[in-house]
Amino acid sequence: MALSDEEIRKIITPLLLSGAKMLDKHCPKCGSPLFELNGRVFCPVCEHRGKQKKAELKDIEEILMEKLKTLANSLPNDIEELEKHLKVMERIIDIMERYKRLEGE
Ligand SMILES: [Zn+2]
Repeated sequence: MALSDEEIRKIITPLLLSGAKMLDKHCPKCGSPLFELNGRVFCPVCEHRGKQKKAELKDIEEILMEKLKTLANSLPNDIEELEKHLKVMERIIDIMERYKRLEGE
């Protein structure tokens, strides 16, 4: 998904104000100009996207965690039902672990 000019402006303007320098090089991933601040060269658009993705993953994790708590607090006595319940919990934990790996990337 491409960022709109408006979004790019929103990302770049504060950088320029904070003293970052726009370089004559472009990001190989997204093509936006690279910036340098305190000796660090980076692509503001890719960094922004990375942060956004992380925030989204965090939200999903929280929802799953809530569900997991609800399930853990309402375990049935019937063995067969309990079995199903635990299977679902196992699946949720599985998915959460997968998300954690994505976040680490
Ligand atoms: Zn980029």
